[in-house]
Amino acid sequence: WKHAPVTFRAMLEASRFHGDKVFLVYEDERITYEEHYRRAAALAGRLAGDLGVGKGDRVAIAMRNYPEWVVAFSAVLAIGAVAVPLNAWWTAPELEYGVRDSGAAVVIADGERAARLRDAGAVLIVTRPGGDLPPGALDLADLIGEPGPDVTLPPAEIAPEDPATIFYTSGTTGSPKGALGSHRNLGQAPMTVSYATVRSAALAGKDPASVAGGRRVVLLAVPLFHATGCFAVLLPVMFTGGGVVLMYRWDAGRALRLIEREKVTLITGVPTNAWQLLSHPDLGRYDISSLGGISYGGAPAPPKLLEQIGDRLPRRQASNGYGMTETTALAIFNSGAGYQEHPGSVGLPVAVCDVEIRGPLGEPLPAGEVGELCLRGPGVITGYWNRPEETASTFAGGWLRTGDLARVDEEGYVHIVDRAKDMLIRGGENVYCAEVEAALYEHPAVADAAVIGVPDEEFGEQVGAVLRLRPGTSVTAEELQAFLRGTLAPFKIPVRIWFREAELPRNPGGKILKNRLREETLGS
Ligand code: ATP
Ligand code: MG
Repeated sequence: WKHAPVTFRAMLEASRFHGDKVFLVYEDERITYEEHYRRAAALAGRLAGDLGVGKGDRVAIAMRNYPEWVVAFSAVLAIGAVAVPLNAWWTAPELEYGVRDSGAAVVIADGERAARLRDAGAVLIVTRPGGDLPPGALDLADLIGEPGPDVTLPPAEIAPEDPATIFYTSGTTGSPKGALGSHRNLGQAPMTVSYATVRSAALAGKDPASVAGGRRVVLLAVPLFHATGCFAVLLPVMFTGGGVVLMYRWDAGRALRLIEREKVTLITGVPTNAWQLLSHPDLGRYDISSLGGISYGGAPAPPKLLEQIGDRLPRRQASNGYGMTETTALAIFNSGAGYQEHPGSVGLPVAVCDVEIRGPLGEPLPAGEVGELCLRGPGVITGYWNRPEETASTFAGGWLRTGDLARVDEEGYVHIVDRAKDMLIRGGENVYCAEVEAALYEHPAVADAAVIGVPDEEFGEQVGAVLRLRPGTSVTAEELQAFLRGTLAPFKIPVRIWFREAELPRNPGGKILKNRLREETLGS
């Protein structure tokens, strides 16, 4: 008997032991671990059988957060094929790009996405068609049927280093890149999250066993097609027999109702989700006593957010996680007392992640100095799909260059200073947009803030800020500048301030699309 291989298939088989416990909740649908396993095994049989999907073949998934997303993902990985989750917000040409770029011959889609994928040239398997199926498409429910207790996965030989997933990066700084992850990469996810949970319990002075032991029910505020949703939430919960509550789309009011109804213990999303939950007028109307924690990541979380959680959701454990599509799951994590003491930090590296800060020549920098954050560990993927040049420049010598500027303090806490691409240089001085944004959020009237570089003849670039104010408040540009003088050096204070009514342009991961914002604001 060899030791169990680190594969998704092994994790899926282990999850069956959770039997009748509820795994996935969507609206009024509740799917147990046993039901999920049967569906996944039945679909795996059909994919490997008549549909001819073999090892290493790519199968795209294009859906909202439906339970079938998880079934499709599970079936594809369990036969050694590669799952390619596509962004559900993508338009027809973008979805077609994903299918072409990954070379997927089969796409499993919901009705809305299927309509956009008619001309993608792949076999379409459709769930929730909402009308007639596109010509030639197959119905997912027909393929799965009603599998009984005897259904088992078709045979497959899968090694830990075999490719398992291609997740696209968010496309915040350029076009989305396909991050090629192995079974070993994703096998780290449950471990890193359990470790982070135990460590933060210990930091909070609680018995780690009390935290690690209870059943977790997580409300997932972010899409499954982003690494966070899948690797930092779905897989760890699946491994420990918890429940995941899915939403068609994020809505703070609905989230509050669901927390009450499903006795949710943790909500996971991006910082925007947390802000919206805290400022929702119905916050006090629901019984959300089950909620023990609120965790977020994927985009900068200003210290003000932690303070607001302390005010409006007292006794809840707030956590800030740093990760990238390229790190598979969490890489750095801040929670509990450590987060209270270091509110501007993303925390300490998780157990399986090494951190190095490098200067412009690639030299390691000492504590306190700002440089490029580089990461290494078994969760870090080895490259991008079909992009040899970007792979070579981003992954070298076993390290991932994140493109983020950071410093590590004397205690080992990592502070993300800015994205290298977001930093602006005003007359030779570096201005980190994230720092100015965090200072703006401290003003009570500011609901949303983004800092951009404004071309300037004299200084090269000047600091500009685009703001949305809280309803019923008002403040002038001069008042804001005066307010910032208390915290920021003069050269960092925005000289141009735009107030806008409309939401700031964000991608579904909650990240502000600065290129688009610059275009909308400056017209260039
Ligand atoms: P692309 O690589 O296509 O431009 P992206 O970098 O936004 O898009 P993701 O992999 O989804 O794609 O996001 C990773 C990035 O998100 C990190 O490099 C970092 O800039 C940011 N990030 C993630 N977590 C945090 C966090 N907790 N605090 C601050 N920034 C974060
Ligand atoms: Mg990136």
